[in-house]
Amino acid sequence: MTSSFGQVVGHKNAKSFFCGIQETERIASGFLLHGDRGRGKFLLARAFIQRLFCDDGTGCLTCPPCKRFDAGTHGDVQEVTLMPGKSRISIDQLRDLREWFHRAPYEANRRCAIVDEAHLMGEEAQNSLLKLLEEPPAHGVIILVTENPQALLDTVHSRLQTVYLGPLDLEDLMTVLRGNVEATDADMAAAAALSNGSPGVAVDIILDEGSGMIREAAFRLFDLKTLPFGYSEMVSGGRPTGAELREKAKRIVEVALELVSQQLAATVRGEKDSPPVPSLAPWSVDILDDAQRLLLDAAGSLRSNTSPRSVLESLKIRMHRIIGQARRQKTVGGNR
Ligand SMILES: [Zn+2]
Repeated sequence: MTSSFGQVVGHKNAKSFFCGIQETERIASGFLLHGDRGRGKFLLARAFIQRLFCDDGTGCLTCPPCKRFDAGTHGDVQEVTLMPGKSRISIDQLRDLREWFHRAPYEANRRCAIVDEAHLMGEEAQNSLLKLLEEPPAHGVIILVTENPQALLDTVHSRLQTVYLGPLDLEDLMTVLRGNVEATDADMAAAAALSNGSPGVAVDIILDEGSGMIREAAFRLFDLKTLPFGYSEMVSGGRPTGAELREKAKRIVEVALELVSQQLAATVRGEKDSPPVPSLAPWSVDILDDAQRLLLDAAGSLRSNTSPRSVLESLKIRMHRIIGQARRQKTVGGNR
């Protein structure tokens, strides 16, 4: 960890992209860093900016600008984030940012800003940002960070250089977890497996003392990408036996039932805008109904003596089957 990029685990491609443009000194005035929640987008954006300000360009962490950057006292950095109690990044925040950008750098040869959770800018705020992107000050670099790039206007999108942060592999996830949380290796491996390659999510799952993990595991029941075999190992961190797994399995099934029931009620009422469970919203009433029945069966089996491992695995297999069937029906229907 001898540099700002060294502090960010994984994301080799994105780092070499940023190193490359830094070498050529052709640095765009706007970037869009996107990828799932918890991937490390904000950290990477900060690490890149630290390199831009660093005396030797490496983000050395020890030169005076690097130290001021880490202490939050560097005069040429701004971070725009959601204000407490608000649901949107306001147009005033963007106006202030534009004004700040048009003043000369205070101590460096450029000014840099990050807009975190950029999808939370409404249309007005985005249009204000657009003005900044259309007439960027020669010394400005702005990085938008978002898990939902579709929420940005095309006009904003097209003025940004896009960088995608993909999932981290297991080894990298474990490195992040070992550095940030205290847990057994088995629990860390389970959290990593449920995190979809997002270290921030894996950390949350562990710090949330189980409830985050249970929710993730419930969502994974409906996910065709998660294999049926080994699902219980994933949930239990490699120890798929005993009373502990039974308790976990019960809670997973309860949460999954709640999710299906919420979506079923909304679908029956014909509510299409802002569905309660977006990942289940494309399912028909029939599939949701079948899923609910499967989950009720599983809840019953978990109250009996059936092994929780076989209940979870067979639930996952049967869930796969009905989701798969529904997809095929949709495809056949679509070809007519
Ligand atoms: Zn430095």
